[in-house]
Amino acid sequence: MFGKQAKKCCMPYRQLNKVESSKQASRRLRVVDGNLDSNRLTRMDHNTKKWLEKIAPTDIRFNEPMSKHTSFRIGGPAEAFVTPRNVSTLRTLIQGCRQRQIPWLIVGSGTNLLVKDAGISGLVICLAGCLNQIEQIGVNGHQVLVTAMAGVQTKTLCAYAIANGLKGMNFALGIYGTIGGATMMNAGTRHGCVADVLDSIQLLTPADEIVQFNRDQLRFGYRKLFWPQARGDQAEAPPVILASTFRFDIDDTKTLRKQARAIIKARKRTQPLGMPSAGCIFKNPVDGPSAGELIDRAGLKGKRIGGAEISTKHANFIVNRHNAAAADILELIKLVQQTLKSKNGIELEPEVKIVGT
Ligand SMILES: Cc1cc2nc3c(=O)[nH]c(=O)nc-3n(C[C@H](O)[C@H](O)[C@H](O)COP(=O)(O)OP(=O)(O)OC[C@H]3O[C@@H](n4cnc5c(N)ncnc54)[C@H](O)[C@@H]3O)c2cc1C
Repeated sequence: MFGKQAKKCCMPYRQLNKVESSKQASRRLRVVDGNLDSNRLTRMDHNTKKWLEKIAPTDIRFNEPMSKHTSFRIGGPAEAFVTPRNVSTLRTLIQGCRQRQIPWLIVGSGTNLLVKDAGISGLVICLAGCLNQIEQIGVNGHQVLVTAMAGVQTKTLCAYAIANGLKGMNFALGIYGTIGGATMMNAGTRHGCVADVLDSIQLLTPADEIVQFNRDQLRFGYRKLFWPQARGDQAEAPPVILASTFRFDIDDTKTLRKQARAIIKARKRTQPLGMPSAGCIFKNPVDGPSAGELIDRAGLKGKRIGGAEISTKHANFIVNRHNAAAADILELIKLVQQTLKSKNGIELEPEVKIVGT
């Protein structure tokens, strides 16, 4: 049954002809964490803009406020912003940027992003709203393999798993954003994380190769995917996750639904979901109290700078109370870091990705 479905519903990445072996690819890739090249200043010339308009006539926007594309509702303009309709357009855009030396940044739903007030130079490529198929690709023993393309909303895959009696995604209930973002961030909760259920990923390298890595070839950290180690050579930007394949056990939909209701209820009780935020702002220390507990104990709950506030409901959330600037959030981040360093000797590391200038 699954084999038939797989044939019928071909994923775009399968239509692409140049698939490099993961061994070859791992020689080329290096460990990167976000496309920091996006911080480089450029100014797009007329020809570049014309080229972008030609490639994605209805999907390209210039000087696009990133506040429209982040859950913080904060962020200066992207010089250019595009939602490519398919993998082929994505490839053309990246190769064109490479040739023209235009920095690019891949984003999903912007739910883990803080974009600085001066905005982002170059091209922001947004995969939320495109590349959004889900497909059951096979069965392996008692487990079902499901591939979700990078633009699928994590909550959509959670709902899909429950509806199909597949166990394993409930940990992600209440995590916002796309599967690409969730895989990149190894998103998780106390119930589990992406790495627990991931079978393989398909990615597009900056050199325009589509490669697949299996679970045992990947290394995950806390809210982090390490790209397969390379020998420090060619790759000038991180690869793009095109799709992630998950391995689920079979379970009863009713049981999964009951569990889901309890998880969502608990999140609503403990998190400030009615206000713009990017979820937890800091990673939890490896051991000892959580970042939220430490910030709370330091008496910083409710602390405000400009329009930003350390949530009174959950101290590891910074919320945009009223027209906060990225600078307000950054100031609060600094305040928390300095306070905890001097009080407890603990250095908190941001979980949120800070991009732009
Ligand atoms: C209210 C709230 C609650 C949250 N709760 C949780 C939680 O419990 N657990 C948790 O882990 N997170 C949580 N988050 C954070 C966030 O939802 C997750 O990190 C999410 O997985 C990010 O997905 P995204 O599509 O929004 O990624 P983005 O924020 O758009 O991007 C995140 C990073 O991934 C990169 N990226 C995105 N897509 C791709 C791709 N296809 N290929 C390569 N790189 C890519 C971006 O460049 C960036 O570095 C929460 C956020 C909010 C707003």
